[in-house]
Amino acid sequence: MAVAKRTFDVVVVGAGGAGMRAALQLAQAGLKVAVLSKVFPTRSHTVAAQGGIAASLGNVNEDNWHWHMYDTVKGSDYLGDQDAIEFMCRAAPEVVYELEHFGMPFDRLDSGKIYQRPFGGHMQDYGKIPVQRACAAADRTGHALLHTLYQQNVKANTHFFIEWMALDLIRDAEGDVLGVTAMEIETGEVMIFHARATLFATGGAGRIFQSSTNAYINTGDGLGMAARAGIPLEDMEFFQFHPTGVYGAGVLITEGVRGEGGYLVNKDGERFMPKYAPNAQDLASRDVVSRAMTIEINEGRGCGKHGDHVMLKLDHLGEDVIKQRLPGIREIALKFAHVDPAKQAIPVVPTAHYMMGGIPTNYHGQVVVPYHTGEEVVQGLYAVGECACVSVHGANRLGCNSLLDLIVFGRAAGRQIIEDLQRHPHPKPLPAHAGDLSMSRLARLESQKTGERVSEVGEAMRRNMQKHCGVFRFPDLLSEGVTKIKEISERVSQTVIQDKSRVFNTARIEALELDNLIEVAQATMIAAEARKESRGAHARDDYPDRDDVNWLKHSLYFSADRRLDYKPVRLKPLTVDSFPLKARVY
Ligand SMILES: Cc1cc2nc3c(=O)[nH]c(=O)nc-3n(C[C@H](O)[C@H](O)[C@H](O)COP(=O)(O)OP(=O)(O)OC[C@H]3O[C@@H](n4cnc5c(N)ncnc54)[C@H](O)[C@@H]3O)c2cc1C
Repeated sequence: MAVAKRTFDVVVVGAGGAGMRAALQLAQAGLKVAVLSKVFPTRSHTVAAQGGIAASLGNVNEDNWHWHMYDTVKGSDYLGDQDAIEFMCRAAPEVVYELEHFGMPFDRLDSGKIYQRPFGGHMQDYGKIPVQRACAAADRTGHALLHTLYQQNVKANTHFFIEWMALDLIRDAEGDVLGVTAMEIETGEVMIFHARATLFATGGAGRIFQSSTNAYINTGDGLGMAARAGIPLEDMEFFQFHPTGVYGAGVLITEGVRGEGGYLVNKDGERFMPKYAPNAQDLASRDVVSRAMTIEINEGRGCGKHGDHVMLKLDHLGEDVIKQRLPGIREIALKFAHVDPAKQAIPVVPTAHYMMGGIPTNYHGQVVVPYHTGEEVVQGLYAVGECACVSVHGANRLGCNSLLDLIVFGRAAGRQIIEDLQRHPHPKPLPAHAGDLSMSRLARLESQKTGERVSEVGEAMRRNMQKHCGVFRFPDLLSEGVTKIKEISERVSQTVIQDKSRVFNTARIEALELDNLIEVAQATMIAAEARKESRGAHARDDYPDRDDVNWLKHSLYFSADRRLDYKPVRLKPLTVDSFPLKARVY
């Protein structure tokens, strides 16, 4: 069937911080840029980022990018690629000032400089004491950032396609990427976006878990599209659980609360973090705090009727600090936990939050895949933001390093595309089969008359991930989880869309999203079962230690045959000496 087509220089899929920063670079260079988004751009998940963006401005304490780089390498449990980490930490102050000049309303110190707060794992002098490195706009930093970038893009004439969902990548016989197919959500119209460069910035996939801080749209679409097009996914076993999701609701309470002086207590009112991290205490890395909370709960010191959560205390900060620095948190506590944080502690529990893995890229945003003995760039394809694995976060991301990642690599990918397009002034012709994969997926959904509902199969997937692939991972649960997730993936291909006549298109979108979620869930479960060590967010009960001899390597998951391969970590930075491997203590 013939599918309508539009041609652009660049198609950017995703209008979060990463997609919009890249699009801005491209549009300002005079390129014709299409940005597709499932939701209105400023409703992308970046808008929910609360705590801040990390940069060693040194506005409050002495700071420099070497210390930031050390913290990031250590936070990654040495799995992060040190060239990319150096690139990011060095660029941080510059990109933050750039945001300031775009009009981002940062909080200010009395001196007029940008306000900075402490955040987990960010320390002074190579890990000695916490440093104030997170640049913040109250507890609504992502909101301020995303609106700033949207306004700048409108000014630069970026073409937005709002409520359009990209369905599949288009690759030709040589494997080059020539754009995407996409569907307008309101009308169901399918179109080919033909482009010289395609950039994925589709965000995370927290919705593979039952309890998640992520928006409902975070369904890993970029990863699903890449996997279906034969591109491997990197380091998918590493999924971050944020220590403080509101108990029962999953909504995030930023680490900024602990940065401002809040702390965790168990049912005896004991402040327990000093036991686990004598130095950083409540501001240790997220994996460390989430594990400590889980141990407190498992050993019978959890709070509430079921002893299944702990409490976050901030009443001692006083109403003024809470209202000025943490107004959004106050609102979340009142609405979702029904407590006034100026008077009572907030019930919290570790909650699925951030995907460290993703589409493998270098620090120019180019997608790189294994090829014979080395690596090769996929021509025409780029990925940035949470859907990409650069890898700067390795096995565990530090708070505030994601917003930084979006802006640094969004800009870098934009610059790289501008350079690459000078060598490719004309788009390659589309292959004859360009729309076939998407049209056959849609035709299957239309023709399927019997089968399970999409929502039931989705729920089975989320339950399976939550039970078998959580904060602590057990060998029998992991291998059972692998068997189950493969079975669930068979069920995904047999779903039926019900209520088609009543709920226009929403069931179809949910089904298309589930195709992507199941790719991410399988990659995560299979890679987690295979990694026989504990590193960062991946904590195995049967292998409690990090094993640098056998496992200091990135995993690559290939969807077609569910195969895993591995590649070395890039331990050599760009200009400085590499940070030697050390035990990770906070
Ligand atoms: C509650 C919360 C608080 C956080 N706080 C912080 C913080 O304080 N500091 C920090 O550094 N990090 C924080 N993070 C992490 C950080 O916000 C995210 O990792 C980051 O915002 C992701 O940005 P992104 O641009 O990659 O994707 P997103 O902002 O998630 O945007 C994804 C975009 O892709 C579009 N999209 C997806 N699939 C498709 C498709 N198929 N077709 C078309 N469009 C599609 C969506 O519509 C959206 O526009 C937080 C995360 C959460 C969930």
